Amino acid sequence: LFVAFEGGDGAGKSTQSGLLAAWLREQGVEVVQTREPGGTELGRALRELVLHGPDGSVSPRAEALIFAADRAHHVATVVRPALERGAVVLSDRYLDSSVAYQGAARQLGHDEVRALSLWAVMGLLPDLTVLLDVPAAEGRVRRGDVHDRLEREADTFHDRVRQGFLDLAQAEPDRYLVLDGTLPPAELATAVRERVASRLGV
Ligand code: C5P
Repeated sequence: LFVAFEGGDGAGKSTQSGLLAAWLREQGVEVVQTREPGGTELGRALRELVLHGPDGSVSPRAEALIFAADRAHHVATVVRPALERGAVVLSDRYLDSSVAYQGAARQLGHDEVRALSLWAVMGLLPDLTVLLDVPAAEGRVRRGDVHDRLEREADTFHDRVRQGFLDLAQAEPDRYLVLDGTLPPAELATAVRERVASRLGV
């Protein structure tokens, strides 16, 4: 089972991924908890380049290709091998992040960015994508200080990211669980757990 956690910066993805991982381990399930960008050694170098690039600027198509390269290597060396041995993989961000950030917010186009990502991963989609939906202004308050180039973008950019995710969820309702990310973490964790438990039969 492959579960991706998506949402804007400060939505609580890593908290929810961690809570689900802990619960699955208690059930005796092998879990691989990972992230994009930066789930591999190559990915960490790419993450550093794209977020803190040499002169602080990365052109939009180069940005899309770097995220796609990170993902290609991540899937080939971490995600696919884990799925093949029967582990549950939890990824903090996956291909829908590229569609929302580079496709919608950067305006490179939904279809092009999705096609690029699908090529990079040879078509691997998550079984379930948990979208933690949080308004842009709320996300800004939650993440506090700016840590990277993309967090510095205006709220209008983050509003387009949010809308990009919501459009994706609407287009593929079966693959998505959309939750109000402003709810208490324990309540969100219960909702995620219920959905995953029904998929796994635990
Ligand atoms: O989620 P995380 O903080 O690790 O993401 C790192 C940064 O990369 C964030 O600022 C996020 O907005 C950005 N990002 C992006 N496009 C993606 C994935 C992440 O702009 N496809």
